[in-house]
Amino acid sequence: MKLQLLYDDEGVGGYGTGWGVSCYLPELKLLFDTGWDSTILLNNMGKFGITPDKIERIFISHSHWDHIGGLSEVLHPGVTVHLPASISEHLKEEINARAEVVEESSRREITGGVWTSGELGEEIKEQSLAVKTGSGLFVLTGCAHPGLPPIFQTFEKIGKIKALVGGFHDFSKLPLLRGLEVIVPLHCTEASEEIFATYPEQTFRAVVGTTIAKTGEEDWRLSWI
Ligand SMILES: [Zn+2]
Ligand SMILES: [Zn+2]
Repeated sequence: MKLQLLYDDEGVGGYGTGWGVSCYLPELKLLFDTGWDSTILLNNMGKFGITPDKIERIFISHSHWDHIGGLSEVLHPGVTVHLPASISEHLKEEINARAEVVEESSRREITGGVWTSGELGEEIKEQSLAVKTGSGLFVLTGCAHPGLPPIFQTFEKIGKIKALVGGFHDFSKLPLLRGLEVIVPLHCTEASEEIFATYPEQTFRAVVGTTIAKTGEEDWRLSWI
């Protein structure tokens, strides 16, 4: 299990930074969200050796500008784009003209071992992603606007959550994270410092240019490469 962090507001040298989220899961050829600025996204993809034509799936968590801004530049006829079903019809049409669109509304396995939570939340609808690994679920969130509790409840029906990466927005119910082996707060996570202080062994600071990789079959400790 490997995750390359492509877009956030801090990065290592040579990588562009900005407000937004994008990650790439190379084993699945899956791009999760696209940041907002396509120039920054493409630059950072290039540094990781990722070209748009290599991407087989794009998973869009929600329609906020900082998660879909780079999308038009990574579309190609061979890519499947998993969109929250409630996203604007005009946007669906535009994307559908350049790629295959799949609308996601409820929890399901989108491809072997890879699940969407389906749309959660009332005002801001958002889907999260879970990847089943030998050790448990690896969960990826965009902003977690619906709140982490419903995201956890949805995925706990299919497995035990072991790793959580993403924006956790206004999350503050710290005990929920007890039992996780890996926590990587990104982007809009307001409680980052409290999470680091409460779970110092489990929490990692990732910046753009970082690869998060599982080091062994038994050991869920992630390492920075
Ligand atoms: Zn958002
Ligand atoms: Zn955001």
